[in-house]
Amino acid sequence: MQIPPYIQEAYQKCIDTGIPVSKRILEAMAKVDRKLFVPEKEAKNAERDWAVPIPKKQTTSAPHMIMMMLAAAAIKEGDTILEIGTGSGYNTALLSLLAGDAGQVHSIERIPELLEFAKKNLDKVDHPNNITLNLGDGTIGLPGMTFDKILVTAAAPYVPHALCEQLRVSGILLIPVEDRWYQSLLRITRLEDSKQDNKDAFSSYFKENQDYPHLYVEYMTSVRFVKLIGENGFREG
Ligand code: SAM
Repeated sequence: MQIPPYIQEAYQKCIDTGIPVSKRILEAMAKVDRKLFVPEKEAKNAERDWAVPIPKKQTTSAPHMIMMMLAAAAIKEGDTILEIGTGSGYNTALLSLLAGDAGQVHSIERIPELLEFAKKNLDKVDHPNNITLNLGDGTIGLPGMTFDKILVTAAAPYVPHALCEQLRVSGILLIPVEDRWYQSLLRITRLEDSKQDNKDAFSSYFKENQDYPHLYVEYMTSVRFVKLIGENGFREG
């Protein structure tokens, strides 16, 4: 399969950051045409390793950022995945291919017009019939459900307790956390209650006085995302 230059560039950035990328991820990214997920006037920029504007003053993240998150989350066939921040639907399409027919991808977006935009974009590409799009506040997750992987594609002021509770044991949460300008991309793995966790070493990223499950936290790299707005996120404005 031919890998477009902007995806090769994204791949190199992941390798330079010390995040190995599987052939499946490269193939999925080569297969999904990013131009179909951005406004027509941005089509040229879709073939660059850049973040690209989408409606409602949001962006679709740079391909290397998306690749890093997919790789760090180690998405497998059959995974039940929660994506927070559907945006253009580009990352949703990739998650759908990687999770395959046996998997499920639940994506939440807070802006109705963007959910419509994502739906139209997703209709343009082939992907397994495993996507559910939800309108709402992703900072509370999807109460009543649990997930193998949770990917938050907007910047949070702290790790929402609800998302840790909705992670299955051995499940992975990828989330950018800190302030509205710069964040640390954290990989958080839920441990069995009997296992020693390390979240005290990362206490500034967690909310005080909340009873989080046992977690293993790793710093991946520094990042810059748009704000996660909601009950366990930033305020609007
Ligand atoms: N992954 C997307 C893509 O591939 O196009 C890009 C996501 S964009 C960087 C972040 C998205 O998160 C925006 O669409 C924004 O509206 C959404 N968002 C922010 N706060 C949210 C919340 N509490 N719940 C759901 N979506 C939220």
